[in-house]
Parts: sequence; C-alpha cells; structure tokens
Amino acid sequence: MDDSNFKAMASEIEGLLGIDGTRHASLGFGSRAVHGYGAFADPTGAVSQPIYQSSTFAHPGLHRSTGFAYSRCGNPTVLELEGTIAMLEGGCKALAYCSGMAAISSIIKLFESGDVVLVSDDLYGGTHRLFQDVYATRYGIEFRSVDFSDLAAVEAVCASADRIAAFFVETPTNPMMKVADLRRLASMAHGRGALLIVDNTFLTCYYQRPLELGADLVVYSGTKYLCGHNDVICGFVVIRDEGLIERTFMDYMSEGDALAPFEAWLMLRSLKTLPLRLDAQQQRAQAICEFLKGHPHVAGVLYAGDPDHPQRELIRAQASGFGAMISFYVDSAERAERALERVQLITFAESLGGVESLITYPCVQTHGSVPTETRERLGITDTLLRLSVGVEDADDLIADLEQALA
Ligand SMILES: *Cc1c(COP(=O)(O)O)cnc(C)c1O
Repeated sequence: MDDSNFKAMASEIEGLLGIDGTRHASLGFGSRAVHGYGAFADPTGAVSQPIYQSSTFAHPGLHRSTGFAYSRCGNPTVLELEGTIAMLEGGCKALAYCSGMAAISSIIKLFESGDVVLVSDDLYGGTHRLFQDVYATRYGIEFRSVDFSDLAAVEAVCASADRIAAFFVETPTNPMMKVADLRRLASMAHGRGALLIVDNTFLTCYYQRPLELGADLVVYSGTKYLCGHNDVICGFVVIRDEGLIERTFMDYMSEGDALAPFEAWLMLRSLKTLPLRLDAQQQRAQAICEFLKGHPHVAGVLYAGDPDHPQRELIRAQASGFGAMISFYVDSAERAERALERVQLITFAESLGGVESLITYPCVQTHGSVPTETRERLGITDTLLRLSVGVEDADDLIADLEQALA
C-alpha cells in the first residue's frame, strides 16, 4: 500500500488514528479504569462492552464506511481497549498487540541498520533475545547495554557512539530492581535527537506514567499486571505525540499482530480492577519484604518498596507506588532449588503480575537466554529467586515461604 492509499484508508477508519488521551481527565484514575474510554454507545445499554467477534464489516455504500473495514486494521472491542489504555497512560494513541514481544518488535522497526539503541543492562530475557538474535544479527541494529541508574555511565556510552536512535529503559529493572531517572534520561535522549522508550510493565500507568515524565513511547507486556489474572498474552505501544502514530499504525496493520477481540474484552474487564489489585499486591509485598529481611536463610532482598532501597527518593519522585515484585538471595543454590519444589500456595511458574503469587528462578527461566558472564556480573546468580506477589492473604504467603525456606 503506498502512502496516499494509507492516508485515505486511515481517515476512512475514523478514530483509529488519534485518541484523546485527556478524555475524562476530570475523573480519578480508578473511575476512568472502571468506565473505560467509551468510544461507542451500545444501543442495548449493555454495561459490559460487547465482543465484536467479526473479521470484516459491511460498507453502507461505495466510499462510505462505518469506521471499520477489517479486524486486522481495527475492531471496535480492540479500539475501546486501545482508547482506554491511551487515556490511562496519557498518550494520544495506544495499539494493542497479541503479545508484549510483538509490541516491542513493532517499535524496533522504527530504526534502521546502523542505528544504535541503548538498553537496560538487566533487560527482560525475551527482549534481550529479540534484540540480539533477531535485530542485531540479521538487521544490523546495534544494541548497547548500560546501567541506566548510573547517569555518568549513560553519558559515557553516549559519547562513544554517534548514531544513537533511542534509549530503551525498564524501570524498576527485572530482576535487580534498579531505578532509572526518567526525567533526566528524557532530556539526555532528546538532547541527542533520540527517543526515550520505557517498558512500563512492572509499575503500570497506575503507579508510573513515563509519558508525563518526558518519554516518547511506552511499551507493555499487558500479560502481567494490566491483565492480572494469568489468562491473556498481550502487549501495548502507547504514543505521546501524533508524529509517531502514522509509522507505528502502518507497521501494526501491515504485519497483522493485533490483539483479538475476545482477549481485548478480557483486558477491558481486567483494567477495571487494576488499582484495587495493585494496591492489594503492594501491601502484601511490603509485609513479605519485611519477613524476608528478617529471615536467617535470606542473604539479601531487592524490592523497590523497601524503605532501605538505595534509590527510595528517586522512586518516590517519579512513581506513586512500588509494585509487588521482590527478588531475594538465599544462602545456597540447593536452598533455592528446594524452595521451588516445596512451595504450595505459591506457584513455581514463569510470568508475574497476576492475582496468583508466582515464584521463578531468573538464572534458568526469565534470564536463561542472557549469557552466563553477563548474568553473573549483574548479580543474577543461582541463589537469586524472584517472587511476584499476588492477592492471597499475606499470612498464608508468609507461612508458605517459611516452610519452603526451612
Ligand atoms: C513478560 C515481559 C515482556 C514480554 O511480554 P509477553 O507478553 O510475554 O510477550 C516484556 N517486558 C517485560 C518487562 C516483561 O516482563
């Protein structure tokens, strides 16, 4: 499709391009999460958004459109979800993808062979694999790891490369819980004509809104906290300025990795309780952090909400909460392995963010694709466990950890 065709089609699909991120701005976050964007008035009065399980849409006549043509390019249930995410994040457009990796892959296509992208040094393992094994090896985009919590190190890497196209930042990082100063990074990136892209999976727009701090793009694994029920794989890209919409939307509809209507409906359901879930998860995480810090077989606890976290002030300055991800070191690899086998209420499984508490072993699971030397340097050792705290009762979770670590 050439560019003029694309523009004609985009304007025909009314509303697919721009979404008003300030919609319902007078309402609180919780009210907006419950009621959603409200793109369509349903004539039946249904309180729950209908699932438009249709691949195609009838045209009322030649050159006339309902606003929808074909669900790869736009579907009403998916558009309602995209509008809701854009509104909650404060962006002018959100796109919903069939996975977090599809969302991240889509925005890396904004760059070209020879471009350099700076990335967090303890990046999510799947993102690391996508960047190195696909985009670096086959498409010539260069990714350089940096500790974004160390601004002098970022300056040094910037000075050593002249085609820096973007900073790709996770904060807090996974699993080391290092925090990056998003306001400072935005001005450093923009000073070099680069984009600031933030993977906001861990805190979500309820606790942290990077676009308001200067980021250009936010990406998500929606599979995690945004979904919250361990039942949907999905991802999002949220765009701050209209200038980036057209390229991103073009890739999205050309590649065909849009989220399906049923998944979009499940996500709309999930978002209604996002603030309730996160506050409950964070409260339990705080109790568990205290318990772990006092445990004789625990050698160290990493939690953004720990009052002793070295970057406490920075976290408070850019986020309204700390989340519910806790990494901790035990005193031996044997104890780590035994704990994974012994947990009963907590499930030994990959993923995070759901109402069910999960425990993982980063060195073999989420970060298994990161080279061993890099893992060791970062502290992702065989004594490190990572806990995603759900909403079970704190006392029950603590009792389970107590018996698993004994
Ligand atoms: C899970 C995850 C991803 C990948 O998302 P999928 O939905 O699994 O494709 C990306 N970034 C972070 C921080 C994640 O935790």
